[in-house]
Amino acid sequence: MKVGVLALQGAFREQREVCEALGASVTEVRVPEQLGALDALVIPGGESTTMARLLGTSGLRDPLGALLRDGLPVFGTCAGLILLATTILDGLPGQECFGVLDVTVRRNGYGRQQESFETTLDVVGAPAFPGVFIRAPVVEAVGPGVEILAEHRGDPVLVREGVRYGATFHPELSGDLRLHEQFLHAARAA
Ligand code: GLN
Repeated sequence: MKVGVLALQGAFREQREVCEALGASVTEVRVPEQLGALDALVIPGGESTTMARLLGTSGLRDPLGALLRDGLPVFGTCAGLILLATTILDGLPGQECFGVLDVTVRRNGYGRQQESFETTLDVVGAPAFPGVFIRAPVVEAVGPGVEILAEHRGDPVLVREGVRYGATFHPELSGDLRLHEQFLHAARAA
């Protein structure tokens, strides 16, 4: 299975390692020519405003957006989820990027007191999952087609809309491969 990891900025190496550990053949995607023949895409955590800018300068924004709207399975973590969201609060003006996951996210929504923390999450299909949150966004609303797979203090932290997955935390930094395994399994079935 061919998995692209968007590698413009952020924690793409860790995403690559997790996908490879699960047997995927991984391409670090930096230019549009690398988009051909991908079975799935992972968008890492990092800084969504920077990634949004680099998506423009790399020329990836439009062709990648077209693939995602066409149904390419995608897993966005943290900043990656922000790039997929239909509505971004506390973003830069015009930051909305791909708009393929029907959620409203607030950047850095946990504020200063709790900018980064770890907690155990009760994930559907992956109980006691280690949740690593780093300046995480908060999902404030989800559309009717969005399934909530895990919550923290009443807010969704892992969501799924068909084969589009978004996590506000960093499963690739947790040493636990179960969520990537679930995603790749769903992508393969799609
Ligand atoms: N706060 C970052 C942003 O707005 C996301 C943080 C992360 O990906 N760990 O893009």
